[in-house]
Amino acid sequence: MKQLIVVADMEGASGIFESNREACWHEEMYPENKLWRSYGRGCITSDVLAVCAAAADMGIDDILLFDMHFAGCRESNIELEKLPPMVRLFDLPDRSILWSRIRGQAATEPYGLITVGQHARNGEPNAYFPHTIHTPPIASFYINGIHVAEIGESVMCFCDVPYIANIGCAASHREALELSANVTCITVKDKSRHWEPSPAETYPLIYEGVKEALRERESKTAYPFSDHCVCELDLTEGYRFDPPDSFPWKGQFRDGTATWEAHDLETALSLFWRMHDHIEKRA
Ligand SMILES: [Zn+2]
Repeated sequence: MKQLIVVADMEGASGIFESNREACWHEEMYPENKLWRSYGRGCITSDVLAVCAAAADMGIDDILLFDMHFAGCRESNIELEKLPPMVRLFDLPDRSILWSRIRGQAATEPYGLITVGQHARNGEPNAYFPHTIHTPPIASFYINGIHVAEIGESVMCFCDVPYIANIGCAASHREALELSANVTCITVKDKSRHWEPSPAETYPLIYEGVKEALRERESKTAYPFSDHCVCELDLTEGYRFDPPDSFPWKGQFRDGTATWEAHDLETALSLFWRMHDHIEKRA
């Protein structure tokens, strides 16, 4: 069985720009906003469908999909009823980002990983909606010297799995390439060139690009397993950590920075949420 892991975000989807940014705003958080349902969902669905069609035509017979945009909201951003039957969703409460549970549900050796709908990290130039997981309060998150946002979390969770393609904002590719130099980068919008195509225009680019990437799968590399992970989480100016009196992991809090170490990437990623619990607004 050839299992493909697909991780989708939405700020990097085709057809979503500053001019229609509400398309990304999930209805469970913004009940007044109609654009997410009427337009935004169709944008990320088109991108994911292009990936699925290319995968099917290249002999993939199992796709496991994680829709991580507005994790914690129940309804999927992707219009699930439009997906082909070979697509399965990770079993997660309200799509929560539980990396160990996510990795545990996938095959021991998945055929490959594709990230889609991806935006750039906080601080990247010429980017649509650059942020690191959620900015503010998060300014940056480093694991072993790489600034990790949604792409990095996904690739590191699936370390040792060939990273096939990243699809999204042109500025998102920098993170993807730092994680795996041979990953295929498929651009669906580019702020530096003011290139803002529709989902219908990018569908064939994604479809052809993913097919080509899967054809070249032997040349694809993965982010390697690491048994010593050094992590640093930095907050934006208005926030600080309120450290607990004691904690069971190896690390420390210093005002707006938390550092920790772990013996594998899954633990390193999971501990992120333990630090997150101690973020507070500056008085
Ligand atoms: Zn998102």
